[in-house]
Amino acid sequence: SAGNVPMSKFDKDAYLPYKHLLERLEIVRGRLKQPLTLSEKVLYSHLDEPAKQDIERGKSYLRLRPDRVSMQDATAQMALLQFISSGLNQVAVPTTVHCDHLIEAQISGVPDLERAIKLNKEVFDFLSSSSAKYNIGFWKPGSGIIHQIVLENYAFPGLLMIGTDSHTPNGGGLGGLCVGVGGADAVDVMANIPWELQCPKVIGVNLTGKISGWTSPKDVILKMAEILTVKGGTGAIIEYYGKGVDSISCTGMATICNMGAEIGATTSVFPFNQRMVDYLCATGRGNIAGEAEKYKDSLLTADKDCKYDRVIDINLDTLEPLVNGPFTPDLAHPISKLGENSKKNNYPMDIKVALIGSCTNSSYEDMGRCASIAKDAIDHGLKAKIPFNVTPGSEQVRATIARDGIIDIFNKFGGTVLANACGPCIGQWDRKDVKKGEKNTIVTSYNRNFTGRNDANPGTHSFVTSPELTTAMAITGRLDFNPLKDELTGADGKKFKLKEPVADELPAKGFDPGEDTYSPPPPKGTEVKVVVDPKSERLQLLPPFEKWDGKDYIDLAVLIKIKGKCTTDHISAAGPWLKYRGHLDNISNNMFIGAVNAENNEMNNIKNQLTGEFGPVPAVACDYKVNKIRWVAVGEENYGEGSSREHAALEPRHLGGVAVIVKSFARIHETNLKKQGLLALTFANASDYDKIQPTSKLSLLNLKDLAPGKPVECEVKNGGSSEKIQLNHTLNDLQIKWFQAGSALNMMKELAKG
Ligand code: SF4
Repeated sequence: SAGNVPMSKFDKDAYLPYKHLLERLEIVRGRLKQPLTLSEKVLYSHLDEPAKQDIERGKSYLRLRPDRVSMQDATAQMALLQFISSGLNQVAVPTTVHCDHLIEAQISGVPDLERAIKLNKEVFDFLSSSSAKYNIGFWKPGSGIIHQIVLENYAFPGLLMIGTDSHTPNGGGLGGLCVGVGGADAVDVMANIPWELQCPKVIGVNLTGKISGWTSPKDVILKMAEILTVKGGTGAIIEYYGKGVDSISCTGMATICNMGAEIGATTSVFPFNQRMVDYLCATGRGNIAGEAEKYKDSLLTADKDCKYDRVIDINLDTLEPLVNGPFTPDLAHPISKLGENSKKNNYPMDIKVALIGSCTNSSYEDMGRCASIAKDAIDHGLKAKIPFNVTPGSEQVRATIARDGIIDIFNKFGGTVLANACGPCIGQWDRKDVKKGEKNTIVTSYNRNFTGRNDANPGTHSFVTSPELTTAMAITGRLDFNPLKDELTGADGKKFKLKEPVADELPAKGFDPGEDTYSPPPPKGTEVKVVVDPKSERLQLLPPFEKWDGKDYIDLAVLIKIKGKCTTDHISAAGPWLKYRGHLDNISNNMFIGAVNAENNEMNNIKNQLTGEFGPVPAVACDYKVNKIRWVAVGEENYGEGSSREHAALEPRHLGGVAVIVKSFARIHETNLKKQGLLALTFANASDYDKIQPTSKLSLLNLKDLAPGKPVECEVKNGGSSEKIQLNHTLNDLQIKWFQAGSALNMMKELAKG
C-alpha cells in the first residue's frame, strides 16, 4: 500500500504521501467541482485545511504543508540561525543541507575543493553540527549542487518542496512542485508552521513535435524567456503538457523547470510520464515509480479540459537553438542570427571562456552530448580554442562520467573539470584572463547572466545557451559560429561540419555513486553542541528585530531612489560577500552597492542628507541608523527579481529601513521583506515614482488601520510643499501581524509562548 514506500532512501520513516494527498484532493474537488491542472492537484492536496481555505487563482493565499525542505550552504546559515533562535529542538519535515555555493573555482576540482573546505571550515562545521542537532541530512562539500542531488535522491512526482534557492523548481522535472523561497519560509516549515503562498495562476505550455538534432531542452526555456520576459511568469506556475513532452528526458525536463526561475515563475512542472519512470529506476527508486503509477491519473497528471490562465504553444520540430544575453536571460538570439546581432550591438565577438554544467545542465545526458561534440572535434584534430570549464552537478555524475570516459574526452578537448559545485555560476570564480572592467564575452550553459554574476566584472557579456552550443562555440571561440550551418577546417585541411550531438540519456552501466558525501543525522543529535564564536567574522547569532511601536512612520528619509533594474544581486551582492551570509552586521556592508542611484546614475554613491556629502550606500545607512533616522528605499519594476536571498530584506531592516516603495515587486523578495517586518509598498500610480526626490521626506500614515487590500496613504514633502500619494500592498491578515510583531519570527515566538 501507499503507506510503506519511503520518500527517499535516506528518509526511512517518512513515506510517500499519495494516499493522504488524494483524500485531501477529494475534499477540494468536492468544493471546486471542475477539472484541475496538475499544479492545482499537487498544491491543493497539500493544503493545511482543504475544507475551509479560500482557493482562487491569483487571489487567495494558500496555507500549505510541504513534504520537505532543502537548503544550500549560503542560505542555510541564516535559516538555521533563525531556526536556532526559535528555540525548537528538531525540524518538523525531512530537511537537507547542501554545501555547494562556497567552493571557488581556481584551478580544478580536487585542489579547489580542498582549499574551500579549509577556508570555510567554520561555516561547514556550523552547518554540519546544526544539521546533526536538528535532525537534518547533511551533504558535504564536494557532494554536488543542491538541485541535482534533490533530483537524484529526493524529488518525486507530486512532491511539494520548498528550497532556499531560486532554482529549486528543478525538481519539476520529476513532477514535483518545488518552490524557491527565502530562509524565513524554510524556518516556518521546519518549525511546523503552514507555509503561505499566494495561489498561483497556471500558465499551460503545450509542447508539440519532437526535440531533435542540435535543439535541446534548454531551448524550450530560452524560448519561454523570450516569450514571457523576465517577469512574465510572475505569480504563475508553468505547467508543460502535450505530445512533445515525451521527447524530453527527465533531466531535460528538470533543465526547463530550473530556468523557469528566470521568467519569475513560482515554479514549473511536468506531468508524470515514462521518462520519469526511467530516471527513477536508474537512480534506484523503482519502488517510487511503481507507487506513482497508481496515482497517475488522479494526482500526477492534469485533468482533461482543465483551464489554464494562458496557453503558450511551442512546436519542438521548428524550435531553433537559441543563445540568450548578454546581461539578461530573456534577450534571445536564434543561433542563425547571433553573429549578425552581435555585430550590430557591438558585443565582443571573441568568446573568452566557455563553461558547461551547473545545476541547470549537468546531467549524464548533457555531459554525454557535449562529449560527442568534443570527440567529433578531436577526431578532426581540433580542440577547444578557449578555456572550457565543466562543472559536474553531483559526485554521482562526476564518478559516472569519469568511469565512462567522458572526462577523458573533455581533458583531450582541453577542458578543465571543476569541483561538483556552483563555482563560476555564482561568482565563485578566481578569473584571471581579463582585467576588471574589460569588455569581453563568455558563453555558459548556466541559467543566469545578470551583470557581474559570474566574475564581478561589469564588462563581461555573459550569454546563456545549451551545453551543446557552448561546447561547439568553444571550438572556434566566436559568437558568429553556427554549428548547424558553418563548416570547420580539420587538422588535415579538410572542411567538415560537426555531427549532431548524440548520447545515452542514462548510463548503460548504471550510475556510479562515487565517494560517499552524505552524512545522516545521528540518532542522538539533540546532544550535539552548536558553537558560534562571538568573535566570528562569518557567523553571528541573531537578535530579534524591534517590535513596531504602533506609531505612523513620519518624515522618513529616502536612502536611495533606484533607477532601472534592481535584482537581489544589486541589493545584496554575491561573489566575495557570500562568506558573510551568516553574519548580518558584516554582510550589510554590501547593501545596495550594485543599485544605480537615480540622482547621479552612479552605483554606491548617494548623498547623505545629514552631511550633504556623497558616500557609499551602506555607510550612509549606518550614519542614519546611528542618528535614529528611519528610511525607505525607492525602486522601479520587478524590484528584487532574481533570487530568494533574504539578506536583501534583512540588511535594509538591520540598517534602519522601514519600507521599500517600488513600481512592482518580484514575489519572493516581496514576501521576504514582509517576513522581516518591512512594509513592501507599490505606487498606486507608477508615475508617482517621479515625485520622490533624494531630499524628500515621506510619512506613512494610519498604519494602525493597516488592512488587506486597503492602500497606505503617504505624504511626500518636497521642500515647503507636500502632497499625498497612495501606496498599495499585498499584506494579508497574518502578514500584518508579522509587521506588528517586528518580524515573522518574532510572531512565531509569541505564538510558541502562547
Ligand atoms: Fe548553484 Fe548556479 Fe545552480 Fe544557483 S543557479 S544552485 S549558483 S549552479
